[in-house]
Amino acid sequence: MKTKKEKPKYNAFQDSIYMVKLAWKHEKAILFHLLLFVATFVALQLIDLYLAPSVISAVENKVSLSSLVLTIAAFVGSSLVLEAINAYFYGFHQYPRITLRLTMSGMRNGKACDTSYVNRLKKSFSDMMHKASWSLGSNSSAAEAIWGTLNGLLQQFFGLVSMYAILLMIDYRLMLIIIVTALISFGVDKWVYGYEDRHRDEFSSLNQKLGHVGWIERNHYIAKDVRIFGLAGWLEELYYKAFAAVFALRRRQNLVLFLSDLTSLVLTFLRNGIAYAFLINLVLNDGLSASMFLLYFNAVGKSAAWARNILSSFNQLGMHSRNLSVYREYLEFDEPFKFEDGKPLPVGKEHTITLENVSFTYPESENAVLKDINLTLRTGDKIAVVGLNGAGKTTLIKIICGLLDPTSGRVLIDGVDVREYNRRDYYKFFSAVFQNFTMLPQTVAENVAQSLDGIDMARVKDCIEKAGLTKKIESLPDGYNTYLNREIYENAAEFSGGETQRLMLARALYKDAPFLLLDEPTAALDPIAESEVYEKYNSMTESKGSIFISHRLASTRFCDVVLLLENNVIREHGTHDELMAKKGRYYELFSVQSRYYSEGSVNDEAEEN
Ligand code: ADP
Repeated sequence: MKTKKEKPKYNAFQDSIYMVKLAWKHEKAILFHLLLFVATFVALQLIDLYLAPSVISAVENKVSLSSLVLTIAAFVGSSLVLEAINAYFYGFHQYPRITLRLTMSGMRNGKACDTSYVNRLKKSFSDMMHKASWSLGSNSSAAEAIWGTLNGLLQQFFGLVSMYAILLMIDYRLMLIIIVTALISFGVDKWVYGYEDRHRDEFSSLNQKLGHVGWIERNHYIAKDVRIFGLAGWLEELYYKAFAAVFALRRRQNLVLFLSDLTSLVLTFLRNGIAYAFLINLVLNDGLSASMFLLYFNAVGKSAAWARNILSSFNQLGMHSRNLSVYREYLEFDEPFKFEDGKPLPVGKEHTITLENVSFTYPESENAVLKDINLTLRTGDKIAVVGLNGAGKTTLIKIICGLLDPTSGRVLIDGVDVREYNRRDYYKFFSAVFQNFTMLPQTVAENVAQSLDGIDMARVKDCIEKAGLTKKIESLPDGYNTYLNREIYENAAEFSGGETQRLMLARALYKDAPFLLLDEPTAALDPIAESEVYEKYNSMTESKGSIFISHRLASTRFCDVVLLLENNVIREHGTHDELMAKKGRYYELFSVQSRYYSEGSVNDEAEEN
């Protein structure tokens, strides 16, 4: 499963600067804590290093008792003060780090909501979104853990500089021994940290699988299928298979970690042995004093530990950086649509949308779904789009409302290419009912208004009325303020598929945009409810331009024009009566459908008798 790794776009230094800038913008306390911890650490280490040698040297030089006590008090006192400052700030240091990580999670979610819709159809985007989450999941994820690493790195760096200055006073060779052994440890650590990186895609795809199977098992909406189709055993098997694969990979990783620890132990033993022999030799042959021996002895110990730590901190930083780099690449994922840099929308109430030779092929797909479509939709027009499953009806309305751009050809609004506009503004022209319902766990009124405040209740009620849902809503204990989604709220209402669809219709009407796009808005309704919607269609759409997609050909009679999509093109267009008179494909489909319905009703009657 090994694949050639792409180099991350940003290196550890660039990512560290990025995080510092983010912290400066959102959570300055992080930087303040960082500086404070580094400064107090270095000071404490120097106090610790000099305390014993200074006391011994004072005793060796037979200083007075009072100055001896004063020396000790100065060291211990300043150390206490620094420890206290450190402990005080340590108590809060994690909150701003968590806040910044959550801010970054918000940025990830914001990108998912704001990105050009076409990106959401690309596997490369969803893969990157998944990988971006690696930085954000927990306290130990890169977006938060990097501060601990940077803190350690800066402490070790400044600590080392001070220790090397001390060691250089004796012999540069001592410093070299420490540096060389640390470099070997670094090489081993690099390989170990690289292990996860080399198996990153393997980890990712296994975890994705594990997460997805778990999601299916827990999902409220799939619960019916799991039972009826007996999927539980199969899903469990899939879950345990993926789990076992993750576990096997982790076990191999742990073995690698163990080997690295073993190497480091041997190296420490060698380095300390050589350095201490060197110092003992100085005591025996060059008359090094006890206090200086102690100073150098501790300096060797500290600098050796830090030299190794500083390098493994670099490795750790590299690992965080690889995750952060993916996060940043995700945020910077190419946006084919114009947003803030687009033109402002045309004003006025009357608008015309024109599709000029529009063809469309889905990203990462080969076959065209629509070919050479020409169409004009004015405010006030009522167009029906019909066709068999997969004919491209939904794709067509996604192109009209700017969720997708044509692969070739143009969509114009009032004569200007839609791509010129700020796409977020362009969406304001449209209201829609799509086939997949998205009810938020909020109240009925909030779902209709798609807002938490400033809700126009009279308008909510009017739209609910037009969608034929008034009786249902008013029968609920909290009426329009009843919450939806029982998974979240105990007293929430559960709506049937048809009721949910009516609620979606009310939501679309509330938005009151110049164009209304309805993709099978009556698919989940019973025939009576469906005919109610048809009757109210004119009052619902009023002066708007509307497109009504339906597989029920009879439903198109109340529209001015019917477009029949077939084999990727508009095969026929005209009024219902014109198309029937033409006796072409529409007529053929209509006849089959009406025969089916009337035969169905004859059979129903026969069964009833
Ligand atoms: P309709 O609404 O007429 O049933 P659609 O517009 O939903 O048809 O789909 C038209 C064709 O486009 C179908 O063959 C479908 O498989 C394909 N299609 C839809 N969405 C995607 C996608 N995200 N990626 C690739 N192909 C897609």
